[in-house]
Amino acid sequence: MRSEGRPGALPLDPAKGREALGTLYLGVTSGNRAVLARAITLVESTLAVHAEMASALINMLLPHTGRSTRIGITGVPGAGKSALIEALGSWLTGRGHRVAVLSIDPSSTRSGGSLLGDKTRMTRLGTDPAAFIRPSPSGLVLGGVARTTRETMLVCEAAGYDVVLVETVGVGQSEVSVADMTDFLLVLMLAGAGDELQGIKRGLLERADMIAITKADGGNIAAARRAATQYAFAMHLLCEPGEPEPPVVTCSALEGVGLDRIWQIIADRQGERERSGALAALRARQNTIWMWSLVDQHVRAMLTAGRNAAEIERQVRAGTLSPVSAAERIIGALGGR
Ligand code: GDP
Repeated sequence: MRSEGRPGALPLDPAKGREALGTLYLGVTSGNRAVLARAITLVESTLAVHAEMASALINMLLPHTGRSTRIGITGVPGAGKSALIEALGSWLTGRGHRVAVLSIDPSSTRSGGSLLGDKTRMTRLGTDPAAFIRPSPSGLVLGGVARTTRETMLVCEAAGYDVVLVETVGVGQSEVSVADMTDFLLVLMLAGAGDELQGIKRGLLERADMIAITKADGGNIAAARRAATQYAFAMHLLCEPGEPEPPVVTCSALEGVGLDRIWQIIADRQGERERSGALAALRARQNTIWMWSLVDQHVRAMLTAGRNAAEIERQVRAGTLSPVSAAERIIGALGGR
């Protein structure tokens, strides 16, 4: 997979930083891929001086954002996420869309390895000039979602990508965070033998805007259709009366079947929301959640950077200080209590 690299050192000197900001702004808004990659590297940087530049850059780029369809794609490992993204992404670029793919791998911080990264993935889309693929850096994933995925998505929008696919492994909290920053959550499910619904989290289904049963090809077609019927029934039970039930479809990335229907459902829904004003309300909600997640990040960074935080944590670990008293001490350092 060719994902965009991390070229060039970013400036640390504020004067050079201002100059660099102008270059980044012009490069991103003119759709220059190398500059886009550098802008994302800036956004991902953990250095304080870069954080300031990144905030300034995002503020400059914001007027150029908001015009993409933001799609979260989730599913357990092996569900067929990368194959579907490859197929759907290429299908979309073939119809004139520009597609950005952001991959989030919540396992990368825990295992040091990667569920998403260590396969050869999306080779066709990776060399498509109308597509841009960016995996989230390992080690920067919090609460199942990369700290900077939202900002990365905005930078891609400013660079003219009109479809953003945010891919995440359907484990833990990731799909909730992804659902909070995207317009449409597509949940991929495998047709299995027996009880299709076993082990599927209700919370995930409640957030789903569409369920796609993958690998509906060859000898698996009948099983996929059966699974689709069962999920459709489950969604019917989950939804309140009068609430729209998320569609359940079958698809095959291998044979390119069902991609047109998936896109049709997403595009129709987005068009409907635009006309009704629901999209503006949704984006306002995404912005509010974004604001609070930034506040959370900053406050947590301030608290953990406090001089006593490490010592207090050590005492909790040693059992000499209760977690309750420890939390009070740490928060007290903010002047709040
Ligand atoms: P991910 O872990 O969710 O990204 O899943 P992958 O896209 O890597 O797919 C897992 C496996 O299923 C791979 O061996 C794929 O070749 C296979 N696969 C994915 N999509 C299809 C499909 O549409 N049909 C068939 N028959 N196999 C598929």
